[in-house]
Amino acid sequence: MSAQPGRPMAGPADPELDPTATYALDPRRVGQLLGRVHSSGLEFRQTHAPFTGQPLASVPQSSPSDVASAAAIARATQTTWAATDLRGRSEVLLNLHDLVLDRQNDIIDLIQWESGKARKHAFEEVAHVAMTARYYARTARRYLNPQPRLGLYPALTRVRVNRVPKGVVGIISPWNYPFTMALSDGLPALLAGNTIVHKPDSHTVLSALLGMELLEEAGMPPDVWQIVSGPGPAIGPAIIDHVDYVCFTGSTRTGREVATRAADRLIGCSLELGGKNPMLILRDANVSRAAEGAVRACFSSAGQLCVSMERMFIADEIYDRFRDAFIGRVESMRMAADFSYETDLGSLISPAQLDTVTTHVDDAVAKGAEVLAGGQARPDVGPLFYEPTVLDRVNPRMTCFGNETFGPVVSLYRFTDEADAIERANQGSYGLNASIYTRDVARARSIAQRLRCGTVNINEAYGAAFGSIDSPMGGMRESGLGRRQGPEGIHRYTEPQAVATQRLVRYAPMLGMSDETYVKLQTAALRLMKKAHRP
Ligand code: NAD
Repeated sequence: MSAQPGRPMAGPADPELDPTATYALDPRRVGQLLGRVHSSGLEFRQTHAPFTGQPLASVPQSSPSDVASAAAIARATQTTWAATDLRGRSEVLLNLHDLVLDRQNDIIDLIQWESGKARKHAFEEVAHVAMTARYYARTARRYLNPQPRLGLYPALTRVRVNRVPKGVVGIISPWNYPFTMALSDGLPALLAGNTIVHKPDSHTVLSALLGMELLEEAGMPPDVWQIVSGPGPAIGPAIIDHVDYVCFTGSTRTGREVATRAADRLIGCSLELGGKNPMLILRDANVSRAAEGAVRACFSSAGQLCVSMERMFIADEIYDRFRDAFIGRVESMRMAADFSYETDLGSLISPAQLDTVTTHVDDAVAKGAEVLAGGQARPDVGPLFYEPTVLDRVNPRMTCFGNETFGPVVSLYRFTDEADAIERANQGSYGLNASIYTRDVARARSIAQRLRCGTVNINEAYGAAFGSIDSPMGGMRESGLGRRQGPEGIHRYTEPQAVATQRLVRYAPMLGMSDETYVKLQTAALRLMKKAHRP
């Protein structure tokens, strides 16, 4: 361990950290929001503000039978909702777009109170919901209208593929992006004519409820989106048991359980899971640009971001220059429990997250890792703050080498040969996101094809791919199944139904033709189709 690793700056504690002074957390507003949880109200769970540890809300808990009744309401509403005009459903999303931009300050306040993240990272959620709403509102017709396909006999068989809604979609969302992970996956499901039963993570129920309230204000009828609340192991299985499709975002461990239960019911699921994402900084990279991107790549939302970077492979020729530029930026980051756009790093969400981060760093240090920056919890800033931490000399014996930390911790590795860097980046079982910094974009594109992960950003941290809503986002290998965003993100909520209309001839002998003659005719027709280059 270095004698004196760098320390990021701590911002001054905000003397006015009073949740009840926040509009979205006014006790009357909180009561209104919590009234939307589908629960018989027999049990409650207290949530706390990560910034200070103060109590935030006493959230009604749903039982498995509450989940069943929420699903029954969603099912009863679905046919009427699916029969509404697609233009009207798109209008709801366009209204939501405007509402989230207009009300961004209230939304961001609430996200910050519930998750403890820095304000600029909370804004990313507002922007992501707005982009997703606009994108699907403007593309839904293209993706959902019946599409013609090639028929059996040219001109004589006309085929149309309909997109039939799955029915009731179950959404199980995590706490790390509590507003956009609650809303954005549901928007294409709504457009496709589904209704929703949604379980947000227990830490961040209010952000999800605010999203649903805004959707209703935007024009979504009541009952279309049901929110239930409770521990995943207690009510997650009931959701899977009562819906027609599951959209899950969370850890690989839970994703496996969700997939197993969904498979047992023969329903589909999409799984957006964990990662141990690599960043490759090639010898011709712009060092200053790479160092700036690396800070965002590693420490946005205090590293509690599925696409954030936890491993950095740096070309030997520029290793020292990059390390110094990166560490300089890390040490000038501002950590604070406040609501200012000046703050670069917020809090972790829970004692469990703080424990994981502390354990990973302490284990690495005990086994010989060098701390280049950070490396310690900062209770002086807030109970769950941890410094942005950069490690060197991490090896496979250390827990943080291959396991996701999901916190503000990154390990630096030197490479001399690009093929070796690609192989090391592909090590392990995850495959979510990667980033490449180089001046040679053509080379980066060819490297991207050799990386086994669902998204690759060239000369950007994660936002280029994640913010390009027209392109699919998701993981390979143990980072997930299926994709959000793009056509894939809406088609997953539909059953393709082929409707073929036959004219004039039939698919059988006609006009007294024998079966033998028919077979000969068919054989000749098949040969002809190939010669005519028909697919
Ligand atoms: P988690 O799997 O513990 O929880 C995620 C959600 O699943 C929560 O709502 C939780 O209540 C619920 N859940 C827990 N057990 C369940 C069960 N048995 N059945 C059904 N639902 C259950 O995840 P976490 O540790 O809280 O979240 C962090 C993880 O999520 C990280 O691994 C991160 O990489 C991943 N994540 C991935 C993405 C992505 O898009 N790929 C986005 C955000 C987070």
